[in-house]
Formats: sequence, structure tokens, C-alpha cells
Amino acid sequence: MNDQEARDWLQRIRALPDQGPVRIMNVCGGHERSISLAGLRDALPPAIELIPGPGCPVCVCPEEDVYRAIRLALETDAILVAFGDMLRVPVNVPRGEPRSLEQARAAGADVRPIASPAEAARLALARPERPVIFFAAGFETTMAPVAALLAEGLPGNLFLLLSGRLTWPAVAMLLDSETPGFDALIAPGHVSTVMGPEEWQFVPERHGLPTAVAGFGPESLLAAIHSVLRQRLEQQCFLDNCYPEVVRPGGNPTARALLTQTLGVTDANWRGIGVISDSGFVLREAFAAHDARRQFALAEKPERRRTGEMPPGCDCARVVLGRIYPDQCRLYGKGCNPRSPIGPCMVSDEGACRIWWRHGIHSGVPSEA
Ligand code: SF4
Repeated sequence: MNDQEARDWLQRIRALPDQGPVRIMNVCGGHERSISLAGLRDALPPAIELIPGPGCPVCVCPEEDVYRAIRLALETDAILVAFGDMLRVPVNVPRGEPRSLEQARAAGADVRPIASPAEAARLALARPERPVIFFAAGFETTMAPVAALLAEGLPGNLFLLLSGRLTWPAVAMLLDSETPGFDALIAPGHVSTVMGPEEWQFVPERHGLPTAVAGFGPESLLAAIHSVLRQRLEQQCFLDNCYPEVVRPGGNPTARALLTQTLGVTDANWRGIGVISDSGFVLREAFAAHDARRQFALAEKPERRRTGEMPPGCDCARVVLGRIYPDQCRLYGKGCNPRSPIGPCMVSDEGACRIWWRHGIHSGVPSEA
């Protein structure tokens, strides 16, 4: 982090003429972590609100996909691998049944955390006698290495339970609603590195909102905040790239080509939010033999209740959409904390509830014991 640069941007922001309340949304868990860690909310003029938006792939992963992963782990002889965050995400099942992959493992299933898609391939090669199912949930930045793996060729015993999502359609859905809830956007740096910043051009062009791509240091975030505030003041909205050292026009052409070659795009469900047009990745037909949804049939369970929903009382969907701050959920710190999470936003390192709690935002709730 460049402290002096961050201080300079802060001074420039404070020197701007007052323009009343401004709500700036970010759509990246990494941005939210940096904002909270650096205490940017307290450092900025009080009229500037920084709103965490739909930037956590684990939080929006459909409940039915997590449930399917749990069942595949329990009901087949496969090794189920997933990124560590996903292991603690709760689903809605009757008391006594495993409600997370972690609990499925405790019940005897072979569930293993991995750190990268390549690790799933290595495990499959090392254990050719067993099927390995990779529960691949994530945004564009995770789907790019999954696409590379597919293009290289999967081991015959490796299957994908794909639950990939694109970020921009969630923002488009908010902007198309009557109440987007924000006046300016900080676009995600990592996603733009892969897909190109142009994906966010629609925000200033179609919706007239100031937009800036930011990196993860406070100086880059503050530069983006300064940019969108100036755009508003000068009434000139455009897409500003405040992370040019990494984000290039067109993104990463190789990664984009691999994504196009291996994955299609379809309407997809977001947990607690509903179906968003053109927001989900699917395996192309050529990879049907590696599609866990097709290769491992599970009997329907029509009696299952609250399918697809958040756990009772959990407000994650409203947190993800920026409708409320994490500490406005009535369970925040009262029954829901990182040690004992109720909803996915308290599980994932990219979830706003966990980030806020970890960084000491305990306003209005009793301290963790
Ligand atoms: Fe869900 Fe817990 Fe966050 Fe409330 S505090 S929205 S229950 S994760």
C-alpha cells in the first residue's frame, strides 16, 4: 500500500465541493475488505456512503447447488472438492441432516478443500480408481482457470459441478430496477483484468452513472472514489480505469478465448435473489461427459422445504444487493458470527458480514464472546 498516495487522494476528495449524499457501490469482496481494513468509511466525508454490493460468489451460489454438492458427497463414491469457503455454507435441511459440506464430511463423506482448479486435476490423476467432483463456484476470475483446465483436457474421472457467475449482469439487474440504491459504481479490478473494463461501459452510457475501475490498495480505491465524485460534479459520466497498471483494454484475450471455447452463458439463479438474465456459466456440450449434473443422477426430494432460500431470518440477499448494511441484519452478531455463521455472507472471506465483523464493526450488537 502506498500510504502517501492514499493520503493525497484523501485530501483531494476532502477538497472537492460538497455535493450532498453520494452512494458509491463496490462489487468486489476484495474491495470491501480493503475499504474495511483501511477504515476508508471513517476517513471519508460523512456524506459519502460506500455500499458493499454483489461481490461474493459464495454468498450468491444457489442453495440448491450447495445441497446437490452435499448429496453427491454423501450418496456417491466420489471425492468432492471445493474451495475452502464453500465447505461451511449452510443449506436448509431438517434438523439432524448435514447442512454443509463440512458436516457431510463429519458424517463420513470424502470432502476436501482445494485452493485451485489444478489441484482438482492433480487429485483426479492421483486417484484414478475414484471419481472426483469439483464443485466449481465463482465469478469470472475463477472460471478463467476452470476454462483453461477444460481446454487442456480433464482426467476421465474428473467431473465439474459448475456454478459460475458473471458479475456485470447483477449490476445491470439493479440498475434496471426502479431502485438501484447507488449513484456511482466502483467496478471490480480483477474481473476487469480478465474480461476487460469495457464490460462496465454500459453503466455510464446507458444509466448515466459515474464509474471507475479500482485496484485493491486504498490509494487505487480512493482514486476511483475521487474520479466518480468529480464525474458527478462535472456532470460528465464515463468509465475511468484507475487500475491501468493491471487492467488493459480488452482484458486478457487468452483467458476470454478459453472461456468462450469451453463455457456458454445462460440465465442463472442467485441465492435469495432469483434468476438474473445471462449471468451464469454452463459447460459446453463437448464437456457433457465431465458434467456432474448429467453423470450423477440424484433422486428428487420434493419434500425438501425452503429450497433455494436463505436460512430463516438471514438477510444476506439484501446485504448482497446493497439494500442494507450487514449490521442492519437482526442476526448480525446475535447468533450469527464467523464462528457460528447462519448465512453465507458470514462464511466467506468475501462476504460483507464476515468482513465487517472481522474488522471490528460491531455497532449496536454485543461483542463476540
Ligand atoms: Fe445472513 Fe448472518 Fe449476514 Fe444476517 S448477519 S445477513 S444472518 S450472514
